Amino acid sequence: AAEPENKNILQNRNPELNERIETVLESLRLGDDSLRQIMQLLEQEMDTGLSPATHAKADVKMFPTYVRNIANGSETGQVLALDLGGTNFRVLLVNLLPQGEVRLTSKIFVIPQSIMLGEGVNLFHHLADCLVDFMKQEKLNQPGVHYPLGFTFSFPCHQEGLASARLTSWTKGFTCAGVVNEDVVKMLQKAIDEKNINVQCVALVNDTVGTLMACAYKKPHTSIGLILGTGTNACYMETLDRVGTWNGDYEEPKQVIVNMEWGAFGNNNRLNHVRTRFDEEVDLSSVNPGKQIFEKMISGMYMGEIVRLIILDLMQQDLLFIGQCDNYGDYRIPLFIRGGFYTKFVSTVETDEGIAFSNTRRVLQDMGIRNPTYDDCAIVQHICKNVSKRAARLAGAGLAVLINRINKPQITVGVDGSLYRYHPRFKRNMEKCIKNLVNKNIKFEISLSDDGSGIGAALTVAAEVLSCQSDKN
Ligand code: BGC
Ligand code: MG
Repeated sequence: AAEPENKNILQNRNPELNERIETVLESLRLGDDSLRQIMQLLEQEMDTGLSPATHAKADVKMFPTYVRNIANGSETGQVLALDLGGTNFRVLLVNLLPQGEVRLTSKIFVIPQSIMLGEGVNLFHHLADCLVDFMKQEKLNQPGVHYPLGFTFSFPCHQEGLASARLTSWTKGFTCAGVVNEDVVKMLQKAIDEKNINVQCVALVNDTVGTLMACAYKKPHTSIGLILGTGTNACYMETLDRVGTWNGDYEEPKQVIVNMEWGAFGNNNRLNHVRTRFDEEVDLSSVNPGKQIFEKMISGMYMGEIVRLIILDLMQQDLLFIGQCDNYGDYRIPLFIRGGFYTKFVSTVETDEGIAFSNTRRVLQDMGIRNPTYDDCAIVQHICKNVSKRAARLAGAGLAVLINRINKPQITVGVDGSLYRYHPRFKRNMEKCIKNLVNKNIKFEISLSDDGSGIGAALTVAAEVLSCQSDKN
């Protein structure tokens, strides 16, 4: 099962020490057979989520989104968008011009920790404040002009329409009070209306849906949207007769995008056999223990922390930084602080090729290890590779389920998110793994959907609302 390529990184070391390092890392390795078993489990969880009889107790919620038309490049218009739920909050103005040209201006705002953990109404006031600020900057305040707005809200929501979505739980470190079970479109609209601006939120989309839409605008075979960023999730186009929970009409097209919320896969302990003690520790110290189990093994919010815990474990066993760190546990040293090893460092460390380890050395020095040796660098890179490869393979197994289920001759997957963008081999590892797991007659392509989670909301507004208006005229 284990792939040999990473073995024997430390030819000059005591083989017994290497063996002990491999024993720790072995728990992260998932062969194709384990992945096939995980695929079966996921497909069962998907059916549980899609069936009205079992939906309430399902972890993988498989929410129908009410997005049924894929953007095709013919939509035109000017749409505002908000993108909340990743590392940054963004306000965008998207201009959809003829021939599929997209012009975009946007502004990034921070969401202070105090707002992420505070009262929900304050969150929405903050979003509205940022929107007003952006509209002033862009001089979007002509009297009498109405601006439609698409809201990318990247948290699990039960939707009852395109512009109606109840938050079912927070993820990714948000815990704002008074929002779970509420309609977030209503909360946003209320905050907007208090500002006396002519903006109407007409669609809420998950970031995966935005990503699918943005990719489809350029590539017609797109039927899956994937996010590998702070969190992880996927959506795909499903035929209506497989969506038992569908409450809308059955007019053409008989299809709807389903937001899987696959991050919650494993909440019911079904992934325990592949979880490690490091995964358990990451989960227990999170703000949502027991939740988002699959996400915590994959996404950017947690990957660096898994690496950090493994480093600490090897240090305690005297296998790493030997004699380099006599102040073990000192809270002023980043390596000893929870969350101190950022996921972007995993990408940096893995960028090193050969034996110089200049990036790895710099990262370790910033972490508080003054003089890392060659062995130290090689071991840390080895840890990073194992952790990120496991994540890529788990995400790949998830995608393989969708690709096999859609089972069309050509399938494009639109992907967005910081982890996918910046990690030097996530894409390659994921692709390699998918090839072994999907039906050989399907051609799949994985495509970066640039700015997908922001543009997609605007495209959804355009495809669903602007095009409906012109249909009716
Ligand atoms: C959320 C999803 C989102 C994903 C990626 C998860 O934590 O539950 O709704 O799509 O993160 O941002
Ligand atoms: Mg995003």
